[in-house]
Amino acid sequence: MTKINPTALLKENGLKHTRQRVRVLEEIALDTVAISQPELEKKLGKEIDRVTLYRILNIYQDKGILHRIMDINGTANYAICSAACSEDHHHDDHVHFNCTCCLKIYCLEVKAPHLKMPHGFKAVTTNTTAYGICEKCAQLETESGTELQ
Ligand SMILES: [Zn+2]
Ligand SMILES: [Zn+2]
Repeated sequence: MTKINPTALLKENGLKHTRQRVRVLEEIALDTVAISQPELEKKLGKEIDRVTLYRILNIYQDKGILHRIMDINGTANYAICSAACSEDHHHDDHVHFNCTCCLKIYCLEVKAPHLKMPHGFKAVTTNTTAYGICEKCAQLETESGTELQ
């Protein structure tokens, strides 16, 4: 889990400290897995309206505080970036894992393979997502005794 200090993070990035901005960071940093936009809306809906939330998420992405990962259903998920990320310069070259059972997205400490682009193509970001069954779901499967053949 990426330990963050919302107040310090806002200051470092020259962002004004607001209660709402802190709340968004707190919610996203709460779990080791990425949080989906609908889930964020559900959790923060009483405190932050959709438009404001959307705006905050965009600012955070621009600043390299968050990265967005699309899941298997095309839903946006957000995770805190590593400290190496900064404005216009994301270093999140890690592999994501999207569990097809619980649909959670994990940021793995696995470096994404470097893709060699054809001549004339300049890749700015690449996205590597592995799909399958996560550790937790695999364990539940074993415990309930339902062996997959
Ligand atoms: Zn799972
Ligand atoms: Zn990630």
